[in-house]
Amino acid sequence: QELVKTFPIHGGIFSRKVGEVRAVDQVSFDVFPGETLGLVGESGCGKSTTGRSILRLYEPTSGEIEFEGKSLLKLSQEEMRRTRRDLQMVFQDPFASLNPRQKIADILEEPLIVHGIGNAKERKEQVLELLRVVGLDKHHASRYPHQFSGGQRQRIGIARALSVKPKLIVADEPVSALDVSIQSQVLNLMEDLQEQFGLTYIFIAHDLSVVKHISDRVGVMYLGRMVELTHRDELYQNPLHPYTQALLSAVPIPNPEVNRERILLQGDVPSPADPPKGCAFHPRCPYVMDVCKKERPEFVDKGNGHFVACHLIS
Ligand code: SF4
Ligand code: MG
Repeated sequence: QELVKTFPIHGGIFSRKVGEVRAVDQVSFDVFPGETLGLVGESGCGKSTTGRSILRLYEPTSGEIEFEGKSLLKLSQEEMRRTRRDLQMVFQDPFASLNPRQKIADILEEPLIVHGIGNAKERKEQVLELLRVVGLDKHHASRYPHQFSGGQRQRIGIARALSVKPKLIVADEPVSALDVSIQSQVLNLMEDLQEQFGLTYIFIAHDLSVVKHISDRVGVMYLGRMVELTHRDELYQNPLHPYTQALLSAVPIPNPEVNRERILLQGDVPSPADPPKGCAFHPRCPYVMDVCKKERPEFVDKGNGHFVACHLIS
């Protein structure tokens, strides 16, 4: 079965909306300037595809992606090359995305050359500045990727994304491969950079604990559909969708007065290529009703921008 995806992204510097993303066939969300939108779900849920589609690293089979009023899928290669400056990506494994034979200085200079930014001297200066803002040293410029730790490599990946002064950064599990102690350093760095450069983030993760502190809003995806989307605090305090509730029950909480039982989901995640009819979550849902097997619940705003797709909530 073909996945049909539409991801309209609107907005711009003067608009309050930087993005609206509609995934598959009934999901849409806005990304506001300067915010971090967390996208969470198990592997195969479509969160990476969503992120990559926005950058056109992945071509949706149909649909539309708009950014700042431009329809990205209709842009020529040349126009997309220019627009891509505004839309950058940080990958899970920075090592895999850094050329092992290139010095860090060359890795960071490359996007500047591609986009025709500055002369050789200005680019050299900018590379040193980039190293500084991500917490690395100018001596690092002449080293190769293998000479860095995982955390440092992710700083290099972030510096490279930052080099062309993007507006939106899609970070696809940027800390998943790092030790927990290093994770928070990289998350703090990303928050500092967001404030400093007015960045908007779409931050993809496979569990709710990683995105808790960095996100302003969080969207939960399941089998290529958004099942819940709301403000961060609202999601963690008042999760409406049974899948979100199950995910959250696995997140340790510091408050012992809140007695939250671990909800164990039955069965495996079905193939995203052939999702169950009706509510795609129904084979694993503890609250499944007859209607859930037949009718797909609409993704609707339950008030104050708390979106959910579940027949229990109407
Ligand atoms: Fe569960 Fe039905 Fe809600 Fe789906 S629609 S999450 S099966 S209660
Ligand atoms: Mg933030």
